Amino acid sequence: MSYGNKKRLCIIGCTGSVGSSVLSICRHFPDKFVVRSLAARSNTKKISSLINEFQPSLVALTDTEASNLLRSQYSDNGLKILGGEKSLVELVSDPEVDHVVIASAGTSSIPALINAMKNDKEVSLANKESLVVAGQWLNDQGNTLLNRIRPLDSEHNAIWQSLLHEEHDRIRMVYLTASGGPFRKLPLDQFADITPEKALRHPTWQMGAKISIDSATLMNKGIEILEAIYLFNIPWNMLSAVIHPDSMIHGMVQFTDGTLKMVGGPPDMRIPAAICLSYPERLDLKGLDLPVEHFSFNNLSFEEPDINRFPCLRLALEVAREQGPFPPILIGADEVAVRAFLSGHISFMDIPEKIEKVLHSYNGPIPGGIEDARELVAWAGRKCSELCGY
Ligand code: NDP
Ligand code: MG
Repeated sequence: MSYGNKKRLCIIGCTGSVGSSVLSICRHFPDKFVVRSLAARSNTKKISSLINEFQPSLVALTDTEASNLLRSQYSDNGLKILGGEKSLVELVSDPEVDHVVIASAGTSSIPALINAMKNDKEVSLANKESLVVAGQWLNDQGNTLLNRIRPLDSEHNAIWQSLLHEEHDRIRMVYLTASGGPFRKLPLDQFADITPEKALRHPTWQMGAKISIDSATLMNKGIEILEAIYLFNIPWNMLSAVIHPDSMIHGMVQFTDGTLKMVGGPPDMRIPAAICLSYPERLDLKGLDLPVEHFSFNNLSFEEPDINRFPCLRLALEVAREQGPFPPILIGADEVAVRAFLSGHISFMDIPEKIEKVLHSYNGPIPGGIEDARELVAWAGRKCSELCGY
């Protein structure tokens, strides 16, 4: 198959919320992008419809049972279907791929991220967990993440755009905005009544379940501060979370001359997806039904987050200060605490309490590398599961 001058994409996490935003850009610009490969975990139904629409040459499902099922469905049309977590590395090492999008959940994409960078691919990264868990070692390996990764997470995308053509040593402060989630104004004495259904109702963004709960607890903003530390090589005390209920400004950078750059737009992941895929070109997204009317200059208000009502943010900031073994522990514990909350095993208020207990119960060494860090994620998950009775 000839691809002409089109950019050849590998999309990991294609069946998810961010993956869908990326694919809608591909769908809209068939003259610019072609989907060379797709990967997900186990959603055979969704990936089948994407295979039929985008006609990739390679597909991977990390769940081997699901990959076998898919292979049986496409046995005679020449499509190569791979299975298992290692298949992600094969996908990103493909010489026929120019640009890798990592939009899967969890830490299984870490080897793929490293290999994509080693193979000099353009990389757009939405996945937070891999950066928080492996970030300390990715920077140690001398990979200048700042120059290599195009951040898809909207706040980091805004900061990345603010930092283009700027000197790193002229940064004074970096701000990540947060909508404040559905409970921004809820009095603390009503937090006990928060149900998964209420917590999943995010006021401004449409997202997967895990990140919606993390947004309701403000853990998401704490995780994003950790992401920013590694992505931009900025110390924790030059990063700050700001509540901005309208989600129009996503990130701000103040420079040493006092200039403040703000980057924003409607809260729609197709916008950061488009600039990640097409940079340095800016695409014309007029033909997409973007909520541009949402952008209003009347409501640009900002306030301090309340860490008393949202202790998850406090915990993540403490982790950002300490680092060492704690970022992977935070990721592992939060993953399980959120699942325990969604399945009715613990209350909303229990989420920070269980995570804090897991963080305090660790008295082992600092992980020596990425594999040790991934083991700590698993340890923290098991510990949290024990504490949640889940
Ligand atoms: P979803 O739950 O909607 O989708 C997750 C995707 O990851 C699915 O395609 C899923 O496949 C795939 N996946 C899960 N586990 C694996 C695995 N072990 N191997 C390969 N693929 C896997 O999540 P989101 O799209 O909301 O989030 C994805 C990532 O992007 C997360 O790290 C999140 O924090 C981050 N992010 C999300 C934003 C959003 O707006 N939603 C914004 C910024 C960042 P399957 O369907 O087969 O299970
Ligand atoms: Mg974000």
